[in-house]
Amino acid sequence: MTDVTRKMPDTPILDQLERGPWPSFVSGLKRLARDDSKPYAAVMKDLLGQLELSYKTKKGYWKGGTIGVVGYGGGVIPRFSEVADKYPASAEFHTLRIMPAPGMHYTTDVLRKMCDVWEEFGSGLIALHGQSGDIMFQGCTSKNVQPAFDALNEMGFDLGGAGPALRTSMSCVGHARCEHSCYDEPRAHRTVINEFLDEMHRPAMPYKFKFKFSGCPNDCTNSIQRADFAVIGMWRDDIKIDQKEVRAFVGERGRAYVIDNVVTRCPTRSLRLNDDDTLTVDNRNCVRCMHCINVMTKALSPGDDRGVTILLGGKRTLKVGDLMGTVIVPFLPLKTDEDYAQLVDIGRRVMEFFADNALEHERTGEMIERIGFGNFMEQVGLDLDPNMVAHPRTNPYVRMDEWEAAAAAYRARHGTSGGSRPEEIP
Ligand code: SF4
Repeated sequence: MTDVTRKMPDTPILDQLERGPWPSFVSGLKRLARDDSKPYAAVMKDLLGQLELSYKTKKGYWKGGTIGVVGYGGGVIPRFSEVADKYPASAEFHTLRIMPAPGMHYTTDVLRKMCDVWEEFGSGLIALHGQSGDIMFQGCTSKNVQPAFDALNEMGFDLGGAGPALRTSMSCVGHARCEHSCYDEPRAHRTVINEFLDEMHRPAMPYKFKFKFSGCPNDCTNSIQRADFAVIGMWRDDIKIDQKEVRAFVGERGRAYVIDNVVTRCPTRSLRLNDDDTLTVDNRNCVRCMHCINVMTKALSPGDDRGVTILLGGKRTLKVGDLMGTVIVPFLPLKTDEDYAQLVDIGRRVMEFFADNALEHERTGEMIERIGFGNFMEQVGLDLDPNMVAHPRTNPYVRMDEWEAAAAAYRARHGTSGGSRPEEIP
């Protein structure tokens, strides 16, 4: 119901967040609060009042509780106000986490319908997207949670994850719009999440577990530092070079620009600009950082033998600080149904091991730090690769006199120039 008795609060502290050239969430909240024809205007006024109080006292006034929809164990974040006596209109301000479409592709019609649903049942405030990829429908009363979910569900959307469970996943815009894409990201995203949906809606793990899918090593979903299980597009043959475009680029920008901004910025010094303005890439030493490809987009592109690299254990700060993902599968082609089944199988093995062995409130990266990377790989049945060694052995009391012979024998057998497999080293 419209409540015109609620007045716009004085917000001198929040007002400061509207200064400057950047967009301000405070301006957004005020816009919603000023529209007295809408039922949520009073809610937004009291929300602004509570927020101003929080900034003044440096205290948060939201407390949790238990709110859900029928058949689901998570996906709604309850928020009850501790200062509801002062700000009654925003006493209940729950958030519905809704899973995004893979690749974040929406039609305008779908977005308009989402807005209509949220104007009817919520506060009108929607955030696209949260750090886990969720569409955050913020500001719902307890009474409206179920009808709001039903309306969104009718549109084909489902609740995401919350609590100790598989969390909502996200994939980058991918091959629909990006020429660097190395696999079908929406398909991988959809396949994996559909397979493990129960783990999302019925929290039963020691802590959260996140999948994310990026189409190339630019990693637009930040999966390496934000996902337990990062699936990143990769190629294993040579970078493709169009020398005509290289010459055109050099002609336009000049040799000094190319040397200063491309060649010398290659982290492994794998690039050489030749006298005839062509480019040579030492592909064996290229670490797929994407820098040269990003700068010379027309001239350079990922190779043709494409697939994914899987990394495990990324997370933001908690107990042992920030962690980046560690490679557990250097290359997996994702072309056939069998390849996708293998991706799901690896995901299942890792998640089951995590569910059985992690301590409460421990992420995968922390678990691996605790039990050791070698032990983890052995238990989930994944091959170790010499490239996974973080740093050379420092203990001098290890006999290495037969290592060279073992490495040579391995190379002869497998026809590779890589190092030796640990199990073959005596
Ligand atoms: Fe060097 Fe990165 Fe280009 Fe590879 S992708 S050649 S590492 S700049």
